[in-house]
Amino acid sequence: MRERNVVVSGASIAGLSAAFWLRRLGWQVTMIERAPAFRDGGQNVDVRGVAREVLDRMSLFDEVKRQNTTETGTVVVDASGKVTAELPSDGPDGATAELEVLRGDFARTIHDHLPPGVAFVYGDTIETATDGPESLHIVTSQGRELPCDLLVIAEGVRSATRDRVFAADEVTQDDLDVTMVFGTIPRTAGDDDRWRWHNTTRGRQIHLRPDNHGTTRAILAYSPGDDLAGLGRGEALARVRDRYADAGWEAPRVLDAFDASDDVYIDQLTQIRMTTWHRGRTVLAGDAGWCVTPMGGGGASLALTSGYVLAAQLATHPDDTEAALTAYETWMRPLVDDVQGLPRGLKQFAYPQTRTGLALRHLAGKVLTSPPLKPLAAKFTQVAETKQTLPDIPPS
Ligand SMILES: Cc1cc2nc3c(=O)[nH]c(=O)nc-3n(C[C@H](O)[C@H](O)[C@H](O)COP(=O)(O)OP(=O)(O)OC[C@H]3O[C@@H](n4cnc5c(N)ncnc54)[C@H](O)[C@@H]3O)c2cc1C
Repeated sequence: MRERNVVVSGASIAGLSAAFWLRRLGWQVTMIERAPAFRDGGQNVDVRGVAREVLDRMSLFDEVKRQNTTETGTVVVDASGKVTAELPSDGPDGATAELEVLRGDFARTIHDHLPPGVAFVYGDTIETATDGPESLHIVTSQGRELPCDLLVIAEGVRSATRDRVFAADEVTQDDLDVTMVFGTIPRTAGDDDRWRWHNTTRGRQIHLRPDNHGTTRAILAYSPGDDLAGLGRGEALARVRDRYADAGWEAPRVLDAFDASDDVYIDQLTQIRMTTWHRGRTVLAGDAGWCVTPMGGGGASLALTSGYVLAAQLATHPDDTEAALTAYETWMRPLVDDVQGLPRGLKQFAYPQTRTGLALRHLAGKVLTSPPLKPLAAKFTQVAETKQTLPDIPPS
């Protein structure tokens, strides 16, 4: 059989996973990435549930574990930093998972273990993708022409190619009204090896997490959110500073450090829901198809899993792309639906607005993390679990 040819757009977790597996199956792989070079940035993600097995099948489990962020547990702290509750972190999928890793380290690990022969094009994007009788014809904004048998769109939540290939009524974008600002800040003597989580009024959270690079990873998350997308970095951070002016705890330190950091990532949480993830020779993987957001967790796990499942189904149905993409979608959809279905009232619980709401939140947190209820609390962090068996890749 002639070597098949795939273009993967987006070189992060989903795209790299698809490239890894399809190249291993003998496909010619061309990756297109909008950024001018490989993107190393990003904060904490984790590998949970079925994605642990995918990682194992890639022989990368130990490698990713070696890059653990060094976090040993998760605690809730009050305004003075005193621990008021400890979230369960025993077992592989606790609040602090066994495989906690920085997004950049994770992506770099997959990148560095790709089978030889994956071609990378940086600083380019897809302009048109025209499906014809024999192949799909891609033209990029730099004028490259790339005929291929398959296009994998793995461009993340704000995917432009998705929005060109699929009609507006096929893509639902649910704004969760939560803004998150992630950044890398200098580590201080008071930082420890736990994820410290502080809630205050007006729906504001502050998180500090250790990393394996001698720095601290900070997150400011708040709801109602603030759409900062159209703003320059300085203006966006000034808006966040206003919001956190009286937030207390470590807020002043985090705000000052964000101003000086070159690794700040701002996201207005948006869930993506689609009626279908494939059309002709085009298929979506990862956040581009179903962004679950950090509220649901598990985005990196689903992205990694999607690359494997896609390749396995293409290997199972080598002569029928439509059957392969349908089987991919059938396998992934229940897993995605499960992660996307946020428990009712989660946002109000996570982002209390008033002093009374905050007190109730503290009380509920204490009860939920008390020894008798710990097994129930542990269930909240178990994502990307499935009773389905991962499809195998048939021997060629
Ligand atoms: C730089 C960066 C930092 C992140 N930091 C965090 C974080 O701190 N916390 C967190 O929870 N999640 C973070 N995320 C998101 C997280 O990686 C994803 O939610 C999850 O891992 C799913 O990955 P994905 O591969 O589907 O999408 P993403 O990781 O979002 O990757 C999409 C990739 O596609 C590229 N791209 C976008 N548009 C185009 C285009 N038109 N053409 C070609 N390429 C395109 C992007 O540059 C990126 O490399 C970050 C993502 C990135 C890219």
